[in-house]
Amino acid sequence: MNQKNFLPSDFEFMAEALLEAQKAFNQGEVPVGAVLVLKGEIISRNFNQMERLKDPSAHAELLCIREGAQVIGDWRLLETTLYTTLEPCLMCAGALLLARVKRIV
Ligand SMILES: [Zn+2]
Repeated sequence: MNQKNFLPSDFEFMAEALLEAQKAFNQGEVPVGAVLVLKGEIISRNFNQMERLKDPSAHAELLCIREGAQVIGDWRLLETTLYTTLEPCLMCAGALLLARVKRIV
């Protein structure tokens, strides 16, 4: 990944995603965190909770876009950017595509 493609705010939001990953680690989960940003503001944030929820789909990214859709009131997450601390898996990549997330960092 070329650093010139990053925005200055990307570092701030990725730091927030890392804080979410730390929460997952503290709870014995695989440490992955994600935040969803719309118009420069975090509208949802979450971390991997597969163990706690006993849910194989409870990845940080999925939980984050589900909550984001509730906040926006639409499943179309147009104009949003998702920050995640790990490259999305196939399931999450598919869900992010279907949710029309504009950009993934
Ligand atoms: Zn995933």
